[in-house]
Amino acid sequence: MADQTLARYVNELSILTLLRTQGPASRAELARKLSLTPATITRLVSELGRRRLVHELRDAGTSALSRREPGRPGVSVALNPAGAYFLGVEIGVGIVRISLLDLSASVVSSSAHSVPPTLTPQEAVALVAGELKKLERNARFKGRIHSMGVTVPGLVQLDGFIVYLPILGWKNVNLTELLSRRIDLPCVVENNANAAAFGSVYLQPSLPSVCTIFLKLGTGCGGAAIVNGRLLRGAAGTAGEVGHIRLTDHGHRCSCGQTGCLETWVNLAALARIWRGTDRLTDAEFATLPNDVVKAATAGEPAALAAIGSLTHHLNLGIVSLVNFLNPTTIMLGGVMRPLLEFCLEDIRAEVASRIVPGTLVPDVRMSMLGDFECALGAASLAHHCAFDLSKVDLADS
Ligand SMILES: [Zn+2]
Repeated sequence: MADQTLARYVNELSILTLLRTQGPASRAELARKLSLTPATITRLVSELGRRRLVHELRDAGTSALSRREPGRPGVSVALNPAGAYFLGVEIGVGIVRISLLDLSASVVSSSAHSVPPTLTPQEAVALVAGELKKLERNARFKGRIHSMGVTVPGLVQLDGFIVYLPILGWKNVNLTELLSRRIDLPCVVENNANAAAFGSVYLQPSLPSVCTIFLKLGTGCGGAAIVNGRLLRGAAGTAGEVGHIRLTDHGHRCSCGQTGCLETWVNLAALARIWRGTDRLTDAEFATLPNDVVKAATAGEPAALAAIGSLTHHLNLGIVSLVNFLNPTTIMLGGVMRPLLEFCLEDIRAEVASRIVPGTLVPDVRMSMLGDFECALGAASLAHHCAFDLSKVDLADS
């Protein structure tokens, strides 16, 4: 990429990022915050406007600062939400969820599709390609879907290669390659907990986010850390397997082959074993398990209280270790265990605060706000982020 072209590209992304994270601004404010000349800003903004990525606001969105400024008083520049869209796909067990974000990273639509639990990579790609085609029939989205993110509940390398996805029986699958054969969009493939973690931070820019640890509790226990807006990926990209922190030598055999992993103490099966005496529940029973246990505990049932006590005790041990290691600002809790975690949130907060190394910042322990679509929204957030990410600039691209 030629120097001038690169400089323009970087400046355009800087303007778009500033408008997304800080809201509408006058041209003078943009020039000041980005240390660019007013003439450069005027030229860049008009080019972004020509591509429908920004538009002008004249009344309500105008900042007090811009009203006092000479030149074009009362005119702010804002992102045009309809300028581009970003697709997010969660490939789960028996379900595929799809979400769409606009250029301002607001949710446009979300849908869930039942699929066989034995879904193959080829079937997943065909479904995604079909749904994308349906969206593009709508004039609003035609030619405006910029890129997509896809998540799977398994080990994914930095290049999107799926190393291990035992729950769907996938091993060594190059999903990026399969998607590129059917879909002509840039695509990022990511582990589902990583994506949910990223989305929970990215879509709530007002939260403190120097370091956020996300824990996703359900069939398993996934996790991820977001440090300064980026996923902590490790050498090959598989970091964040917090569910396999070994808490004890004894305990149930984990999917990784070990015993005593955090996951085996805090997942749905662990809850069922203590409350019902078995983890051989139907899918429907597992789906309502967290709510059912909360109801029983509220009624004072001893087995339900014991199940919640065991889960929170082991979860707190895991969180305390993570807090001591990473000194996070926020612990975010998500996954299908949400109702139960919400029920004991105050206890978790108190226990974590009392057990971490004295003097360590007590993190804000809170629930993720993204709900059932946290992975699909996280996947779309990753695609959105890539479009704005200066580190992805290809210097060889002319
Ligand atoms: Zn394990």
